[in-house]
Amino acid sequence: MDLEIDMSELAGRSYKCIDRCGVCCLCQPELLPDEIKAFEADPDLKKGLVRRPIAGEGSEVRTQLDLQGGCGACVFMKDRGCTIYEKRTHFCRQYPIHIHSMRRIQLNANLSCRGVTAGGMSLLGYALNILKATPIERLEVGLARTSKDADEFDGLCRDAGVYQPPERLVSVAGALIPILGKEDGIGRLITVIEDAPPFGDMAQKDVLEVIRTAEVADDLVDEANQGNYEQFELDEIAWLPYYIGEDLVWNVFQSNDGAIDWMVLEEDGTLSLKEKIDIEGIGLLRRDADCLRIFEDYAKLLVSRDHTLGRAYNICDALDYGTDLMNVYLGVLGTTMIDLWWRASLVGRLTGRTVIDKWLAEEGIKAFDADCLDAETIGLFL
Ligand code: SF4
Ligand code: SF4
Repeated sequence: MDLEIDMSELAGRSYKCIDRCGVCCLCQPELLPDEIKAFEADPDLKKGLVRRPIAGEGSEVRTQLDLQGGCGACVFMKDRGCTIYEKRTHFCRQYPIHIHSMRRIQLNANLSCRGVTAGGMSLLGYALNILKATPIERLEVGLARTSKDADEFDGLCRDAGVYQPPERLVSVAGALIPILGKEDGIGRLITVIEDAPPFGDMAQKDVLEVIRTAEVADDLVDEANQGNYEQFELDEIAWLPYYIGEDLVWNVFQSNDGAIDWMVLEEDGTLSLKEKIDIEGIGLLRRDADCLRIFEDYAKLLVSRDHTLGRAYNICDALDYGTDLMNVYLGVLGTTMIDLWWRASLVGRLTGRTVIDKWLAEEGIKAFDADCLDAETIGLFL
């Protein structure tokens, strides 16, 4: 099989792992079949294995590294260092690179890793070494499976009359980005998307005009608060959103009684409540010109990611193919951008800021991108 591998997202980026950061060790790595055998053959390593569903009850059970206290760092972490560094899993070595498979293989950079903006080596060079160490059969098998899923998805969309070619989805979204980069752009898209006519039937310029001239709903801030409150409403601490700031503290957030509980997580799974933040007090902070530019770049990144398409496919499937795929795709783009805006506002609330400037926009991306990449997709991260 000829493998198409897109690595364009990594070009021009650098990477240097930050000593005592360790936040990727909260992610509960899965083991490859060969690694399971190697870990099971070593009594000390075997103790660190656990089999559990990857995404809650009813989802596939996989062999993973266990977490300290059920929700802290990997059991092999001590004082923010890895005690089995030479034997750590492929997943650990691969971070912050993610290998996404759908109709092709695409490499994504997890921008929640502070090492991606810390200088150091070329991220592309780092990724090439990761690819060299990845068995080709793993990529081939993954790609065969996800290509089949994508083809089946296309067929169901065509049968339901909601199909849009991926090139057209990406083209319309690309043309929409300058509108999203304006002060009211994200709000206009969010407001219009629910009641919009099927965009797939319209010329690109007409889609853009509908969005460009839409009124922003008065309750946009309430909607952003509510939507994000629900995303943080998880009982399983290990699945809650985290944010590691410049001080390398592990901050975790959970919705509770109309507030966001801001907690600090320790390596052993201990949690301490730092503050209860009233959900009404978060909202959407004003963005300055630097922030608008940085968010516009992030929107471009979303459009370039196959994962964003896969998320739209997944939602279209959940909506039983009753909504035009163009509306679903642009809706994913709009909700992702407003969630980023809200997340930057949350970090602003933690750090006592009232405007999202360059620093806060970049911190917002660090606080958000891991969750964005974690969203369900019809593709697969290998
Ligand atoms: S998140 Fe990035 S910087 Fe932090 S320990 Fe992991 S690879 Fe290193
Ligand atoms: S094996 Fe080491 S690098 Fe991997 S998650 Fe555990 S502590 Fe982190």
